[in-house]
Amino acid sequence: MKRWLLKLALFLLLLGGGAIVNVAVAWAFAAYAPIPLDIGIVTHTEGLRWPARLPNDFPTRPTHVVSEHGRGFERSELAAFRRSFQERTIGSEILNQEQAVWESRDEPELREPMLQDIAHRRSVLESSEDGNYSDYRAICISAGWPLLSCVGVRWLADRGPPPNIPRASGVVGAAEIAWNPLTYRTSTPVTMNAFENRLLPFIPIWPGFAINTGFYAVVLWLLFAAPFVLRRRLRVKRGLCPKCAYDLRGSAGAEACPECGNAMVKREVVA
Ligand SMILES: [Zn+2]
Repeated sequence: MKRWLLKLALFLLLLGGGAIVNVAVAWAFAAYAPIPLDIGIVTHTEGLRWPARLPNDFPTRPTHVVSEHGRGFERSELAAFRRSFQERTIGSEILNQEQAVWESRDEPELREPMLQDIAHRRSVLESSEDGNYSDYRAICISAGWPLLSCVGVRWLADRGPPPNIPRASGVVGAAEIAWNPLTYRTSTPVTMNAFENRLLPFIPIWPGFAINTGFYAVVLWLLFAAPFVLRRRLRVKRGLCPKCAYDLRGSAGAEACPECGNAMVKREVVA
């Protein structure tokens, strides 16, 4: 086989191996990292977009996002609500009452965060789409190291008001496993604990996926090549042919190794 063909095959093999290690590392983080089930502080953000392939009845765009980062993972929850004019009016009145109560309280360290929270809930209420009471969420789990390389989504649709919420949920771009290191370690049917089950995401995040794959391909190459490079160096140091280990100390100045014909001898071996 031609030499360049062998090199190409090795390159593709390393790249494939790098991609496999990349996904394996991402899944290890997705399975074991301390990813919180729920995160409270809502940040209202403009210009948000839903991930692809959610049910058709999701509102046009998410109104706010909540994010939590850690080593090897990110959890961000996008959400949007629908409220009728009447529901918006009632909700607004409830917020007015809560605000009046907190404004009259004499505990500034409690009052300020509560007022901020009320202001945020008001902006979410005001930015909700028109329609019957319903809440929509997309929880995006990204994982990978050194960069985030894969993402998967759990979507939740509460198509009605409490207390009897008609809830639907699903997973896009991820495999769900009946496992969560933070809550329990037994295997239960996947459908029993949809919130707590971990997702193994498999939608690539570019360029993180490519960079991680290259990174692990280099690591694999080092693991493969290091022993041969080391052997070669030791042979040169001992005055042996780097290719076949023939003793060259008696053939100083030779153009090639008399045993195997390796032409690199003169340049590499210092006799
Ligand atoms: Zn030789």
